[in-house]
Amino acid sequence: MNPVLAMRLKKDFPALFRPGISCDILDGWEPILRRLCVDLQHEKDLAFTQVKEKYGGLRVYTTWSTKQLEKRLEAAEAESFETCETCGKDGQMRTTRANSGDGWMFVACQGCFDLAVAKGSAEPESEDSDS
Ligand SMILES: [Zn+2]
Repeated sequence: MNPVLAMRLKKDFPALFRPGISCDILDGWEPILRRLCVDLQHEKDLAFTQVKEKYGGLRVYTTWSTKQLEKRLEAAEAESFETCETCGKDGQMRTTRANSGDGWMFVACQGCFDLAVAKGSAEPESEDSDS
């Protein structure tokens, strides 16, 4: 994540971001993470242990959890599946290797996906796919 954005999050939610924790996601998910922070900031003794992208989605690990808390983390994760990680526009799950199926997954809008294809970091989706 852009270091300025990450610094702001850490400054606004110092209880959640203990020293040394990094935000290993791209800027497009910052609003999702920020909303999650607003939601969780008053939970007692709660802090993030990891913020990262896993299997294409936003994953947040916390110092403790309950079923109820887990639901809120899952809601943020579900939102990330439909939000371009790069720019924050509506996105969908893609894979870097659409045709062979062994690439890694990421969420991108059409524009960011086209850019990834243009840069050679993702394969174009085949014409006959019915997605
Ligand atoms: Zn995008």
